[in-house]
Amino acid sequence: MAKKNSNPNLDPNAFRDSLASVREDGKRIWVYPKKVKGFFYRYRTYFSWILLVILFVGPFIKIDGRPYMLFNIFERKFIIFGAAFWPQDTHLLIFLLLIFFVFIILFTVVFGRVWCGWACPQTLFMEMVFRKIEYAIEGDANQQRALNEGPWTGQKIWKKSLKLSVFAFFSLLIGHLVMAYLIGIDQVKEIVTQPPTENMAGFIGLVAFSGIFMFVFAWFREQACIVVCPYGRLQGVLLDDNSINVMYDYVRGEPRAPIRKNQVDAAPKGDCVDCGLCVQVCPTGIDIRNGTQMECVNCTACIDACDEVMLKVERPTGLIRYASENSIKEGFQKLFTGRVKGYTVVLLVLVAAFVTLIATRSDLEATITRFPGMTYQARPDGKVSNLYNITLINKTFEPQSVEIASLIDGIEVEIVGDTNWVLEPQTKFEGRFFLVQEQEEVKIPQQKVHLVLSAEGEEFDDIETNFMAPVGGKN
Ligand code: SF4
Ligand code: SF4
Repeated sequence: MAKKNSNPNLDPNAFRDSLASVREDGKRIWVYPKKVKGFFYRYRTYFSWILLVILFVGPFIKIDGRPYMLFNIFERKFIIFGAAFWPQDTHLLIFLLLIFFVFIILFTVVFGRVWCGWACPQTLFMEMVFRKIEYAIEGDANQQRALNEGPWTGQKIWKKSLKLSVFAFFSLLIGHLVMAYLIGIDQVKEIVTQPPTENMAGFIGLVAFSGIFMFVFAWFREQACIVVCPYGRLQGVLLDDNSINVMYDYVRGEPRAPIRKNQVDAAPKGDCVDCGLCVQVCPTGIDIRNGTQMECVNCTACIDACDEVMLKVERPTGLIRYASENSIKEGFQKLFTGRVKGYTVVLLVLVAAFVTLIATRSDLEATITRFPGMTYQARPDGKVSNLYNITLINKTFEPQSVEIASLIDGIEVEIVGDTNWVLEPQTKFEGRFFLVQEQEEVKIPQQKVHLVLSAEGEEFDDIETNFMAPVGGKN
């Protein structure tokens, strides 16, 4: 994806035909982004600390002994901000996902890929953890390049082993963190403290996740954003000329030209001094001056690099900045476009529907169906009965004692088997019961019966079903 670059001085299509990190023969070009410093990098660093603390503390937060966040896709059990969602709540989760997607679309239409640069875990760990470790051990871009291209000396072996060991440690940490969100911190503690044979599946999960993270952060890196991430690929349809992105102000910057001493040149030049620093700091290896590109993760490194250059050459900062195509071309920024208003309405409708569903959701659920293939049973004691199946779901975290009663005089409930329906926390129960009536009291062949279900003395459901019996004992 690439938005059309309306910079009249550039071939608008030149950058579309290749990836900056892949050679023409398909081989990888290793990106060595130069260390960056500046306003945005500083605030991204602070923000990343906050996010890292939230991420790592998350699995330890419990409410009444239960996790605050759990995404157990294996057992289809989710706890989001303390609220439990069961497989029976799939419609709620679908709503939640829809809200999330519409929010992301709306956010992207207005603010471009701010998420990628500031909050995406891939960028967060890559740029704020692994990249920093790499700089600390191997040095800046040029030193890293020299080390990689140089012979295997004792120092190179030492630096590479140290870096990979530290990478492995952090990959293990992230692998365990992800597992804690999936199966809960207590389960992870159990897996870690027991021999692998005691919980082979959990152990394999931990090793697999840690291995994947090691692969991604030590080698795959920016390719995850460029090749794998579907969000990055959607930018082409999400962004428009009013979306705010990291952009190069080509109106101010072009024609670019280096500053030469004692240069006598009557032709006015743009503000870009063609130093290439914005390209050197880019973790995806692109040149932002070509326009908005799929590879740009809006990390702001080029903004900081260019601002530093502008200060040195005593020109105004912001040659690369957060801006929209229209704000550069036309000089004004329009935020509330028709598209934004449309998405906002859809988002509000979805949120309202979700809130209503949550507010009316019951913690206990009951389903009653007639026993298939049976109408009624005439009993020798002069009574007639109908058989029903009942399914009860306890979504709460406490045991629930459930009772059922008929609201129709003369029709009694007779439970089959154990009459004590006690549901353990977060369990499902399936049982059977009869509705029984004196034959001589049957007035109509099919009567509506209201059944009331209560737990711990409190009514939680009122279900209507049919009671069938021959009038006056006649078939
Ligand atoms: S172009 Fe700039 S904002 Fe985009 S990824 Fe490269 S350095 Fe980051
Ligand atoms: S850092 Fe700024 S001045 Fe240097 S090449 Fe990039 S846009 Fe031009």
